[in-house]
Amino acid sequence: MKFENQPSYSLGQRSPSSKEVLPGEGGVNVTLVSQSTLGEINRGRVLQALYDNGPKSRAELARLAGVNRTTITGIVQPMIEEGLLVEGDAVPSDFKGGKPARPIYFNPEAPMLGAVLLLPGRIQTCLVTLSGEIKALRKAQFDPRGEDRDAFLTIMKDTLSATLSQANRAPFGIGIASGGMIDSDNGVILAVNLAPVLTGLPLVDILQEHYALPVVIDHHPRALLVGDRWFGPGRGQQTFAAIYTGEVLGGAFYIDGRVYRGLAGSGGELGHTVVQIDGELCNCGKHGCWETVAALPWLRREAAQMGFEEPESITAARLVNEAAEGSKAADDLLDRYARNVAFGILNLQQTLSLNSYVLHGDIAGGGDIAAERVRQHVEQLVRKRPNQEISITVNGIGEGHTALRGAAGLVLSSHLKLVI
Ligand SMILES: [Zn+2]
Repeated sequence: MKFENQPSYSLGQRSPSSKEVLPGEGGVNVTLVSQSTLGEINRGRVLQALYDNGPKSRAELARLAGVNRTTITGIVQPMIEEGLLVEGDAVPSDFKGGKPARPIYFNPEAPMLGAVLLLPGRIQTCLVTLSGEIKALRKAQFDPRGEDRDAFLTIMKDTLSATLSQANRAPFGIGIASGGMIDSDNGVILAVNLAPVLTGLPLVDILQEHYALPVVIDHHPRALLVGDRWFGPGRGQQTFAAIYTGEVLGGAFYIDGRVYRGLAGSGGELGHTVVQIDGELCNCGKHGCWETVAALPWLRREAAQMGFEEPESITAARLVNEAAEGSKAADDLLDRYARNVAFGILNLQQTLSLNSYVLHGDIAGGGDIAAERVRQHVEQLVRKRPNQEISITVNGIGEGHTALRGAAGLVLSSHLKLVI
């Protein structure tokens, strides 16, 4: 399946260095932001202001994005010409005697973004509008432990094609949020412990060739982070982390206004940071990883040992409900789960001082009650500085939708060459 009306653009590769580095005194490098990086940052700010505030005039956008009135035209005009943004009808100015202002917003006719969420055994595909609406959602399952990679690719392409066929213009591109160890530079799924059929799969090249569209891939928790940043509790934040618990545990960082990826996207393997020396054997083959004490397999084992009914269906949400109904056992297990999650956050906090953590996946299913438990444990465990506030929140939008929006956000940021 190929689109006829393929737009003429090339997907921006993440440039390894868009900063100018000047030598500083005493051999320390001083980093200055170059003009082109500044342009990307400003464009990102303008888009974020539109996401956060809805349609706005140029003057209001300039104020909200913190850029001056002359700069705003240079940022907005190319995006109008490209069809990403559109000017609405003039509305009277708020200021007496002021010129009528034309509000600017995302063009409903603009191409959409293709998004894929790929987790062991499960595929979700959809189209995401520039304002974050999810359309043409399709779901499918595959055998994660199977050997037949072609069978997986057939399911993948069928599902994605069913979604893409709903778009009346070629999407800007396809963003994939995938579980496992991802090489985001080369578009390869390196290893997925729970889905060996995906190991070594050069999915980006395969889909790029099949659809003749730009394709980007990133680690699932990093897509959650991008979804948080554009559409969730990370809006407007300069530094925060996303933490995911489910069958596995993962995370991603947004530091000083940028997504931190590490070499070829290898940063954020939080599930395999060690919290217990010589602890339990992990899926990765090592011992004592954070994942061994704060993901669902641990929770199910503990629930079984404590004599819970149907321990295989235990979740943070169920523990919160049963604790509210007076179950001491549920309250105890919820507290241990929250404490084990808190230990990993503690190490992150001591290392990077991110101060803000957005929970996703199973632990987020426990809502504000689970988040507050985690926060209390972090408070107790961390060696705090005076006046330091540590915030632990849940993304209330729902994990699947955040990951899909985040996957679309990966395309958006590549396409617009945004620094995010
Ligand atoms: Zn591990």
